[in-house]
Amino acid sequence: MMIVMHADATQEQISAVVSRVESAGLQVHLSRGTERAVIGVVGDGRKIQPENYMHMSGIEQIMRITRPYKIASREFIPEDTKVEFGGQTVGGRDIVIIAGPCSVESRSQLLETAHAVREAGAHALRGGAFKPRTSPYSFQGLGEEGLKYLAEAREQTGLAIVTEVMSVSKVPMVMEYADVLQVGARNMQNYTLLHAVGESQFPVLLKRGMSATIEELLMAAEYILSHGNRRVMLCERGIRTFETATRNTTDINAIPVLKAQTHLPVILDPSHSTGHWDYVTAVARAGIAAGADGLIIEVHPQPDKAASDGGQSLKPERFAELISQVRKIAEAVGRDLAPSLEAVAAQ
Ligand code: PEP
Ligand code: MN
Repeated sequence: MMIVMHADATQEQISAVVSRVESAGLQVHLSRGTERAVIGVVGDGRKIQPENYMHMSGIEQIMRITRPYKIASREFIPEDTKVEFGGQTVGGRDIVIIAGPCSVESRSQLLETAHAVREAGAHALRGGAFKPRTSPYSFQGLGEEGLKYLAEAREQTGLAIVTEVMSVSKVPMVMEYADVLQVGARNMQNYTLLHAVGESQFPVLLKRGMSATIEELLMAAEYILSHGNRRVMLCERGIRTFETATRNTTDINAIPVLKAQTHLPVILDPSHSTGHWDYVTAVARAGIAAGADGLIIEVHPQPDKAASDGGQSLKPERFAELISQVRKIAEAVGRDLAPSLEAVAAQ
């Protein structure tokens, strides 16, 4: 439910409504627009009767939110949410590029990749230290050792760190080293993990499950938001369809649909959505044209030797070419890439 206050409502009137809602055991999200305050009410709607509020002074209108997700909806928060982490802002005019290997494999592999993607113009470094693998016999990641290499790469390059957390017990450890907690596609509906990253109040990159609808992705985001953690970025990473020519099918539609239905930033992962390095750049261009706020791209100095996802990883030179192509698309749709770390350092 949303309580829209009159343009001339006083602070006392706003506070009176807020305390009444809170004392009914519901949560309040207060947004102060340029003209009027809007009080968003989240929780079990049966706890309050809108008619009983209508007599309170200062209230102009009471509206029901029709979507099952509340805080994630644009009805609730009309203005774009900007998520800040490690010196970057996602969700504004500037597009942010996250790049790096699928897995952190060794100190030298990670540092070499970090320097290469920084030079090409990336703003953040990705790399999994905890890997969700289909087979228990595949490389599972270096764990805390991998996180230490990520933190060292940030020291050396200034790139913010995005890395996956797979279990509730590891959330504090990953927070020690990272700037963003990635929740992977396979964990999108791991509700205990969603509660934990919500409670962490740390920036989160929430990847869409491979069989999840857009509404299910937004409901998963709602779990995190319901803890008061508003720093959530959504990631389209391809869905399972009947098509076998690519690893997944990029749901380009999801980008404008999400931008219409939620205020949260949307990032595209064309590496997992295509599964082939030679399709990544084309689909990255499409994602930016469709309105994505950022990209997450797998890059490896020697893809043929990668411990995971080598076939979809770009070599650094090709990643640099992706950046230059994507920049032109961004300009064509009235946006720009965020300034490179080199440009920022030179200021
Ligand atoms: C990854 O980013 O390497 C990854 C495992 O992605 P997803 O969860 O989208 O499969
Ligand atoms: Mn991967």
